[in-house]
Amino acid sequence: MRKNIVAGNWKMNLNRVKGIALVEDILKRLSAENKTEVIFAPSFVHLYKVAKLCENTANVFAASQDCSASEKGAFTGEVSAEMIASCGARYVILGHSERRVNFRETNELLKSKIRQAFANNLEVIFCCGESLEQRQSLVHFEWIKSQISESLFHLSAAELAKIVIAYEPIWAIGTGVTASSDQAQEVHSFIRGVIEEQYGGEVSQNTSILYGGSCNSVNAVELFSQKDIDGGLIGGASLSAENFVAITNSF
Ligand code: PEP
Repeated sequence: MRKNIVAGNWKMNLNRVKGIALVEDILKRLSAENKTEVIFAPSFVHLYKVAKLCENTANVFAASQDCSASEKGAFTGEVSAEMIASCGARYVILGHSERRVNFRETNELLKSKIRQAFANNLEVIFCCGESLEQRQSLVHFEWIKSQISESLFHLSAAELAKIVIAYEPIWAIGTGVTASSDQAQEVHSFIRGVIEEQYGGEVSQNTSILYGGSCNSVNAVELFSQKDIDGGLIGGASLSAENFVAITNSF
């Protein structure tokens, strides 16, 4: 079901004390009538505590920033989807560009991660997006379509319903350069069309597609007013309670 979602990707920021304080502050500031789904994606080591803090607030959930492609075993340093689910998380972010670029994650590997997530009843926030060079050479649509088709199109329509797509142009992540609302809407509409071609109109209309890339409390209102933008995956601005809550109120 298509929902408005604001997810905070903390990346490798905030120690335990600061992370807990941030969640408590945000929960205090969220209005009792909040209808936006709010997601915190802390480091693995804070996940259990963050999920506990979210337990009694409607529409607020915890996510991990990644999961292993393997079920269990001799994979030192890895964290399995089962472990993540047992901490109380509802979502896992997969395919973030920092994982794709710095850890060489491929579309094929992401298929295995999605399989692990679904086997443990986790929903997936699946990230896609192009580099500046790809946009400048006008191959960005083709690139995004290949990221989606190669990692997702083996899924049934029922499984796709457990995927939230996050469009994150790499050139906008952490740079302070946001895609304009027209640029973002153009790609979101393209992504919805790609889903429609494969799964039909009902499935595509029910898919939540988030924008990520220097989204903040100033530009969120315009971005979220676009027809195919259902919310945001927020990096830097998710580390401030005031900014993050303002973004959740931007619909
Ligand atoms: C992100 O890393 O998912 C992100 C969108 O970061 P930022 O908001 O800092 O650009």
